[in-house]
Amino acid sequence: MTSMERKMADPAAAATVRCDACPVMCNIRPGLAGACDRYANADGQLVRVDPLVLLDAAKAQGAPVVAFQSEGEWDGRLVRGAETFVTAIGAGTTYPDYKPAPFIVSTEVDGVDMVTVVTEGVFSYCGVKIKIDTDRHLGPERAMVRVQGEPVGHVTTGEYGSQMLSLGGVGHLTGGSKKEGRVTCETLLALSNLQPVELVIDDGATVVVQAGAAPIVNGVPETKMRVGCGSATIGIFAPQWLGKVDEVVVVDDHITGVLSEHQAGKLLDIPPTGIRMRGRRSTPGRYFQVANPGTGWGGTDISDPLSILEPFDPKHAKPGLSMLMVSTTGEHFAYYELDEALRPVERPMPAPLADSVARISENCEPALCSVLFIGGAGGSLRAGVTDNPVRLTQSVSHGVTRLTCGGAPVYLWPGGGITFMVDVTKLPENAFGYVPTPALVAPIEFTMPLTRYAAMGGYVDHVRPASSLDPSAPHRRVAQPPDNPWPLTPLAVPDAP
Ligand code: SF4
Repeated sequence: MTSMERKMADPAAAATVRCDACPVMCNIRPGLAGACDRYANADGQLVRVDPLVLLDAAKAQGAPVVAFQSEGEWDGRLVRGAETFVTAIGAGTTYPDYKPAPFIVSTEVDGVDMVTVVTEGVFSYCGVKIKIDTDRHLGPERAMVRVQGEPVGHVTTGEYGSQMLSLGGVGHLTGGSKKEGRVTCETLLALSNLQPVELVIDDGATVVVQAGAAPIVNGVPETKMRVGCGSATIGIFAPQWLGKVDEVVVVDDHITGVLSEHQAGKLLDIPPTGIRMRGRRSTPGRYFQVANPGTGWGGTDISDPLSILEPFDPKHAKPGLSMLMVSTTGEHFAYYELDEALRPVERPMPAPLADSVARISENCEPALCSVLFIGGAGGSLRAGVTDNPVRLTQSVSHGVTRLTCGGAPVYLWPGGGITFMVDVTKLPENAFGYVPTPALVAPIEFTMPLTRYAAMGGYVDHVRPASSLDPSAPHRRVAQPPDNPWPLTPLAVPDAP
């Protein structure tokens, strides 16, 4: 029996459709979706499950001024003009890559014909960079980050008031076990779509990360991002302590500050107090490694701040000398006075010092998790834009072609290729998808003048006016976030290639 005869004998088989939007090539039976849930078989037709997302200019930066009667005059078209942007969210993917992108649409903007090439790119080379605002030690640099026991990334450098993680990348997606690749893909997808994920760090903490939300470290929500390191805190608040206390120690895992020794104290003529610190003295009033990293005071492992002090030097110390010890967020604080034996004894905090601690806390910003998706668009997906891919790379790097991700602005890395990062909170919700190869699917739009598109070898035969898109096609209108620049605005670099 031939394949045609088999199909005629089995109506269900006859209605099965093959999805060719990615290398998996699913055969999808009627009423079902493919492996990624992005495509389905609707009455024998292959359809993209999610609606196409259109951005409305609203109050976005640089957006065209919409006439007052514009809404009333609307003629029913899907795209009304330069105040609507067709994103790649829900647009679909073409495969193999040399097929022109699913949508190549033109729009007139201020008398210039602009083209936007729209596709949902499949990224095997992608990941997320995470910034977690916390003083607490999450894990040693290079420690593995795990989800469901699988390695999905690692701890990278600590930055100012934040711990950084690097998750995903082609190594975890393709270079480990099948389960590692799957769990990595799930993790990246959830984080990119603003969902919370519990990350377990080897020899470190368990952190719940969600873009735009406070991190939860070992079950405790973080509230404050430090005002600065211990030294910076001394530099900021030294004048406010003058005359109210003899000594201040700002406890910090990285740089603990000591007022009387610090240049800020010297310039205010604060006399020596005989304080002696543990750890390694870097420069006057700045100490490294006063304790081990941890989740206690100032990101150290201590709960008793006196544990970072050696006995006071009797040459300068005297009974009754007062001392404030405080962490870089103002979360931990204590006040001491020296007794007759020059031992610090905790006393009730004087009101003026309590005010200064409150001022430190007031100057701390809310602790948040930031998630940046990073992907390489300099590979084969360029072939869906032009038959000469390097011209697209050059056009993007010269600022003629604007690259957006779901209409959101991106940061382009210098150097070769088209490697970009985007803040996932700037995209419409559920903008990312996946395919089980495994890889992430991210929306990508390239916008440029039509003349430049033709010059780079673009698929001009496939350009169609955005206003001709079928208004009955499933779609979702979303207001462009006001902080995002309007993606259709031409970039002003007239002589670039
Ligand atoms: S995984 Fe999704 S995109 Fe890939 S072939 Fe299957 S249904 Fe199509």
